[in-house]
Amino acid sequence: MTQAPHSEVLAIKYAETVSPDREHFLMGHDPHDGPHPISYFLWLIRHENGLVLVDTGFGERAAAERGRTLLRDPLDALASLGVQAEDIETVVLTHMHYDHAGSVGRFPNATVIVQERELAYAAGPAMRHPACRKAFDVEDVTDVVRTLYDGRIYPVSGDRHLFPGISVHLVGGHSKGLQVVRVETDAGRLVIASDATHFYETAMEGDPFPVLCEMPAYLEGFDRLFELADDPNLVVPGHDERVLSLFPALPGDPNVLELHKGPLVPTPFAGRRMPVVREP
Ligand SMILES: [Zn+2]
Repeated sequence: MTQAPHSEVLAIKYAETVSPDREHFLMGHDPHDGPHPISYFLWLIRHENGLVLVDTGFGERAAAERGRTLLRDPLDALASLGVQAEDIETVVLTHMHYDHAGSVGRFPNATVIVQERELAYAAGPAMRHPACRKAFDVEDVTDVVRTLYDGRIYPVSGDRHLFPGISVHLVGGHSKGLQVVRVETDAGRLVIASDATHFYETAMEGDPFPVLCEMPAYLEGFDRLFELADDPNLVVPGHDERVLSLFPALPGDPNVLELHKGPLVPTPFAGRRMPVVREP
Protein backbone atom coordinates (compact mmCIF):
# COMPACT_ATOMS: atom_id res chain seq x y z
CA MET A 1 0.00 0.00 0.00
CA THR A 2 1.15 3.52 -0.69
CA GLN A 3 1.38 6.20 1.95
CA ALA A 4 -0.89 8.70 0.21
CA PRO A 5 -3.46 10.34 2.49
CA HIS A 6 -6.90 8.83 2.41
CA SER A 7 -9.92 10.71 1.12
CA GLU A 8 -13.66 10.32 1.57
CA VAL A 9 -15.77 9.61 -1.50
CA LEU A 10 -19.51 10.16 -1.62
CA ALA A 11 -21.75 8.96 -4.45
CA ILE A 12 -24.79 11.22 -4.74
CA LYS A 13 -27.77 9.94 -6.69
CA TYR A 14 -29.68 12.87 -8.17
CA ALA A 15 -31.84 11.38 -10.96
CA GLU A 16 -33.22 8.15 -12.35
CA THR A 17 -35.18 6.61 -15.16
CA VAL A 18 -36.29 3.21 -16.41
CA SER A 19 -35.92 2.09 -19.99
CA PRO A 20 -35.88 -1.20 -21.88
CA ASP A 21 -32.93 -3.47 -21.31
CA ARG A 22 -32.04 -3.44 -24.99
CA GLU A 23 -31.13 0.25 -24.66
CA HIS A 24 -28.47 -0.63 -22.09
CA PHE A 25 -26.65 -3.61 -23.59
CA LEU A 26 -25.28 -3.99 -27.09
CA MET A 27 -25.06 -7.78 -27.04
CA GLY A 28 -28.57 -8.50 -25.77
CA HIS A 29 -27.83 -9.20 -22.13
CA ASP A 30 -31.47 -9.96 -21.28
CA PRO A 31 -33.49 -11.85 -23.89
CA HIS A 32 -36.73 -10.78 -22.21
CA ASP A 33 -35.92 -7.12 -22.71
CA GLY A 34 -37.52 -6.12 -19.44
CA PRO A 35 -37.39 -2.67 -17.88
CA HIS A 36 -34.00 -1.71 -16.51
CA PRO A 37 -33.46 1.11 -13.98
CA ILE A 38 -30.69 3.61 -14.47
CA SER A 39 -29.43 5.88 -11.71
CA TYR A 40 -27.53 9.13 -12.21
CA PHE A 41 -24.77 10.10 -9.81
CA LEU A 42 -22.31 12.83 -8.92
CA TRP A 43 -19.30 11.96 -6.78
CA LEU A 44 -17.81 14.24 -4.14
CA ILE A 45 -14.27 13.65 -2.88
CA ARG A 46 -13.17 15.26 0.39
CA HIS A 47 -9.38 15.27 0.61
CA GLU A 48 -7.10 16.87 3.16
CA ASN A 49 -6.95 20.20 1.32
CA GLY A 50 -10.40 20.55 -0.19
CA LEU A 51 -13.13 19.13 -2.36
CA VAL A 52 -13.17 17.57 -5.80
CA LEU A 53 -16.51 17.22 -7.54
CA VAL A 54 -16.55 14.44 -10.11
CA ASP A 55 -19.15 15.35 -12.75
CA THR A 56 -21.80 18.02 -12.45
CA GLY A 57 -25.00 16.22 -13.46
CA PHE A 58 -27.96 17.68 -15.33
CA GLY A 59 -30.74 20.04 -14.29
CA GLU A 60 -34.47 20.49 -14.96
CA ARG A 61 -34.18 21.40 -18.63
CA ALA A 62 -32.30 18.27 -19.68
CA ALA A 63 -34.47 16.12 -17.41
CA ALA A 64 -37.60 17.44 -19.14
CA GLU A 65 -36.15 17.16 -22.64
CA ARG A 66 -34.97 13.59 -22.13
CA GLY A 67 -37.74 12.29 -19.88
CA ARG A 68 -35.56 11.67 -16.83
CA THR A 69 -36.79 11.96 -13.25
CA LEU A 70 -34.78 14.61 -11.45
CA LEU A 71 -34.85 13.67 -7.77
CA ARG A 72 -33.08 16.89 -6.83
CA ASP A 73 -31.04 19.49 -8.54
CA PRO A 74 -27.31 18.65 -8.27
CA LEU A 75 -26.63 21.96 -6.49
CA ASP A 76 -29.39 21.26 -3.96
CA ALA A 77 -27.93 17.83 -3.34
CA LEU A 78 -24.54 19.40 -2.63
CA ALA A 79 -26.15 22.07 -0.42
CA SER A 80 -27.74 19.31 1.67
CA LEU A 81 -24.17 18.19 2.42
CA GLY A 82 -23.16 21.71 3.43
CA VAL A 83 -21.35 22.36 0.14
CA GLN A 84 -22.12 25.44 -1.96
CA ALA A 85 -21.24 25.67 -5.65
CA GLU A 86 -18.77 28.47 -4.82
CA ASP A 87 -16.88 26.10 -2.49
CA ILE A 88 -15.92 23.74 -5.28
CA GLU A 89 -12.40 24.52 -6.49
CA THR A 90 -11.92 21.45 -8.66
CA VAL A 91 -14.34 19.68 -10.98
CA VAL A 92 -13.37 16.55 -12.87
CA LEU A 93 -15.51 15.83 -15.90
CA THR A 94 -15.28 12.13 -16.58
CA HIS A 95 -16.63 13.04 -20.03
CA MET A 96 -18.92 15.65 -21.55
CA HIS A 97 -22.18 13.75 -22.07
CA TYR A 98 -25.28 15.64 -20.88
CA ASP A 99 -25.68 13.61 -17.69
CA HIS A 100 -22.10 14.27 -16.57
CA ALA A 101 -21.32 17.82 -17.66
CA GLY A 102 -24.67 19.60 -17.44
CA SER A 103 -23.99 22.28 -14.84
CA VAL A 104 -20.39 23.35 -15.40
CA GLY A 105 -21.37 27.01 -15.67
CA ARG A 106 -22.84 26.90 -12.17
CA PHE A 107 -19.47 26.38 -10.45
CA PRO A 108 -17.90 29.84 -10.79
CA ASN A 109 -14.67 29.14 -8.90
CA ALA A 110 -13.84 25.69 -10.17
CA THR A 111 -10.91 24.63 -12.29
CA VAL A 112 -12.34 21.96 -14.57
CA ILE A 113 -10.22 18.91 -15.40
CA VAL A 114 -11.14 17.39 -18.74
CA GLN A 115 -9.26 15.27 -21.23
CA GLU A 116 -8.03 17.15 -24.31
CA ARG A 117 -9.49 14.41 -26.49
CA GLU A 118 -12.91 14.97 -24.98
CA LEU A 119 -12.86 18.71 -25.68
CA ALA A 120 -11.77 18.06 -29.25
CA TYR A 121 -14.45 15.41 -29.75
CA ALA A 122 -17.36 17.32 -28.20
CA ALA A 123 -16.63 20.50 -30.17
CA GLY A 124 -15.26 18.80 -33.26
CA PRO A 125 -16.40 17.58 -36.67
CA ALA A 126 -17.93 14.30 -35.47
CA MET A 127 -20.77 16.28 -33.86
CA ARG A 128 -22.39 16.88 -37.24
CA HIS A 129 -23.56 13.26 -36.97
CA PRO A 130 -26.68 12.79 -34.80
CA ALA A 131 -25.47 9.36 -33.67
CA CYS A 132 -22.29 10.93 -32.25
CA ARG A 133 -23.91 13.96 -30.64
CA LYS A 134 -27.02 12.40 -29.16
CA ALA A 135 -25.53 12.07 -25.67
CA PHE A 136 -24.12 15.61 -25.78
CA ASP A 137 -26.04 18.83 -25.15
CA VAL A 138 -24.90 21.85 -27.11
CA GLU A 139 -25.70 24.19 -24.19
CA ASP A 140 -23.42 22.20 -21.90
CA VAL A 141 -20.65 22.01 -24.48
CA THR A 142 -20.97 25.78 -24.96
CA ASP A 143 -20.68 26.26 -21.20
CA VAL A 144 -17.47 24.24 -21.22
CA VAL A 145 -16.12 26.36 -24.07
CA ARG A 146 -17.01 29.52 -22.09
CA THR A 147 -15.16 28.08 -19.10
CA LEU A 148 -12.20 27.42 -21.38
CA TYR A 149 -12.25 31.07 -22.49
CA ASP A 150 -12.41 32.07 -18.80
CA GLY A 151 -9.13 30.21 -18.35
CA ARG A 152 -10.63 27.70 -15.94
CA ILE A 153 -10.37 24.53 -17.99
CA TYR A 154 -7.27 22.48 -17.22
CA PRO A 155 -6.93 20.05 -20.10
CA VAL A 156 -5.08 16.81 -19.45
CA SER A 157 -3.90 14.08 -21.74
CA GLY A 158 -3.74 10.55 -20.40
CA ASP A 159 -3.17 9.71 -16.74
CA ARG A 160 -2.48 12.52 -14.24
CA HIS A 161 -2.19 12.96 -10.50
CA LEU A 162 -4.39 15.74 -9.14
CA PHE A 163 -3.88 15.67 -5.38
CA PRO A 164 -2.11 13.14 -3.15
CA GLY A 165 -4.04 9.90 -3.53
CA ILE A 166 -6.30 11.21 -6.33
CA SER A 167 -5.64 10.62 -10.02
CA VAL A 168 -7.43 10.52 -13.35
CA HIS A 169 -6.92 7.84 -15.99
CA LEU A 170 -7.87 8.01 -19.65
CA VAL A 171 -10.01 5.10 -20.80
CA GLY A 172 -11.87 6.36 -23.89
CA GLY A 173 -14.26 4.07 -25.75
CA HIS A 174 -17.66 5.31 -24.61
CA SER A 175 -16.58 8.85 -25.44
CA LYS A 176 -13.17 9.81 -26.87
CA GLY A 177 -11.85 11.29 -23.66
CA LEU A 178 -13.62 9.31 -20.94
CA GLN A 179 -11.50 9.34 -17.80
CA VAL A 180 -11.98 7.43 -14.56
CA VAL A 181 -10.91 8.63 -11.12
CA ARG A 182 -8.86 6.65 -8.64
CA VAL A 183 -8.98 7.61 -4.97
CA GLU A 184 -6.96 6.31 -2.03
CA THR A 185 -9.47 5.52 0.74
CA ASP A 186 -9.55 3.65 4.04
CA ALA A 187 -10.99 0.69 2.12
CA GLY A 188 -8.16 0.73 -0.44
CA ARG A 189 -7.77 2.32 -3.84
CA LEU A 190 -11.23 2.86 -5.24
CA VAL A 191 -12.13 3.58 -8.87
CA ILE A 192 -15.03 5.82 -9.86
CA ALA A 193 -15.62 4.11 -13.18
CA SER A 194 -18.31 6.46 -14.47
CA ASP A 195 -19.38 5.23 -17.91
CA ALA A 196 -16.42 2.92 -18.38
CA THR A 197 -18.95 0.46 -16.96
CA HIS A 198 -22.54 1.66 -16.64
CA PHE A 199 -23.69 -1.40 -14.72
CA TYR A 200 -22.10 -4.38 -13.00
CA GLU A 201 -23.07 -6.60 -15.92
CA THR A 202 -21.37 -4.29 -18.41
CA ALA A 203 -17.84 -5.16 -17.31
CA MET A 204 -18.66 -8.64 -15.96
CA GLU A 205 -20.17 -9.79 -19.24
CA GLY A 206 -18.16 -7.56 -21.56
CA ASP A 207 -21.46 -6.28 -22.93
CA PRO A 208 -21.13 -2.61 -23.94
CA PHE A 209 -23.61 0.15 -23.30
CA PRO A 210 -24.70 1.04 -26.84
CA VAL A 211 -23.24 4.56 -26.89
CA LEU A 212 -19.75 4.09 -28.28
CA CYS A 213 -17.11 5.88 -30.26
CA GLU A 214 -14.29 3.28 -30.17
CA MET A 215 -15.20 -0.31 -29.47
CA PRO A 216 -11.68 -1.72 -28.80
CA ALA A 217 -10.81 1.11 -26.40
CA TYR A 218 -14.11 0.57 -24.64
CA LEU A 219 -13.48 -3.15 -24.17
CA GLU A 220 -9.88 -2.62 -23.03
CA GLY A 221 -11.25 -0.21 -20.45
CA PHE A 222 -12.83 -3.05 -18.45
CA ASP A 223 -9.44 -4.53 -17.53
CA ARG A 224 -8.05 -1.04 -16.95
CA LEU A 225 -10.56 -0.47 -14.14
CA PHE A 226 -9.39 -3.56 -12.30
CA GLU A 227 -5.71 -2.73 -12.89
CA LEU A 228 -6.30 0.49 -11.00
CA ALA A 229 -8.34 -0.78 -8.02
CA ASP A 230 -6.96 -2.62 -5.00
CA ASP A 231 -9.98 -4.92 -4.92
CA PRO A 232 -12.65 -5.64 -7.55
CA ASN A 233 -15.34 -4.59 -5.07
CA LEU A 234 -13.87 -1.08 -5.14
CA VAL A 235 -14.73 -0.49 -8.79
CA VAL A 236 -17.93 1.58 -8.76
CA PRO A 237 -20.14 1.56 -11.88
CA GLY A 238 -21.52 4.84 -13.16
CA HIS A 239 -25.24 4.11 -13.36
CA ASP A 240 -26.08 0.96 -11.40
CA GLU A 241 -28.84 1.41 -8.82
CA ARG A 242 -27.42 -1.49 -6.78
CA VAL A 243 -24.66 0.82 -5.58
CA LEU A 244 -27.34 2.20 -3.22
CA SER A 245 -27.79 -1.09 -1.42
CA LEU A 246 -24.19 -2.33 -1.63
CA PHE A 247 -22.46 0.69 -0.05
CA PRO A 248 -23.37 2.30 3.28
CA ALA A 249 -25.67 5.30 3.04
CA LEU A 250 -24.98 8.53 4.81
CA PRO A 251 -27.19 8.56 7.93
CA GLY A 252 -30.46 10.27 7.02
CA ASP A 253 -29.94 10.26 3.25
CA PRO A 254 -30.36 6.97 1.37
CA ASN A 255 -29.28 8.65 -1.89
CA VAL A 256 -25.80 9.51 -0.61
CA LEU A 257 -23.36 6.61 -0.29
CA GLU A 258 -20.11 6.57 1.63
CA LEU A 259 -18.03 4.69 -0.90
CA HIS A 260 -14.79 5.12 1.06
CA LYS A 261 -16.08 2.75 3.72
CA GLY A 262 -16.19 -0.07 1.17
CA PRO A 263 -19.18 -2.25 0.31
CA LEU A 264 -21.34 -3.81 3.03
CA VAL A 265 -21.37 -7.14 1.20
CA PRO A 266 -19.43 -8.45 -1.80
CA THR A 267 -20.48 -6.73 -5.00
CA PRO A 268 -21.18 -8.49 -8.32
CA PHE A 269 -17.54 -7.70 -9.18
CA ALA A 270 -16.28 -9.83 -6.25
CA GLY A 271 -15.44 -12.79 -8.45
CA ARG A 272 -14.04 -10.76 -11.30
CA ARG A 273 -10.61 -11.88 -12.40
CA MET A 274 -8.02 -9.22 -11.59
CA PRO A 275 -5.69 -8.47 -14.51
CA VAL A 276 -2.09 -9.67 -14.36
CA VAL A 277 -0.87 -6.16 -15.05
CA ARG A 278 -1.46 -3.84 -12.08
CA GLU A 279 -1.05 -0.11 -11.87
CA PRO A 280 1.48 0.74 -9.14
ZN1 LIG B 1 -23.60 8.54 -18.18
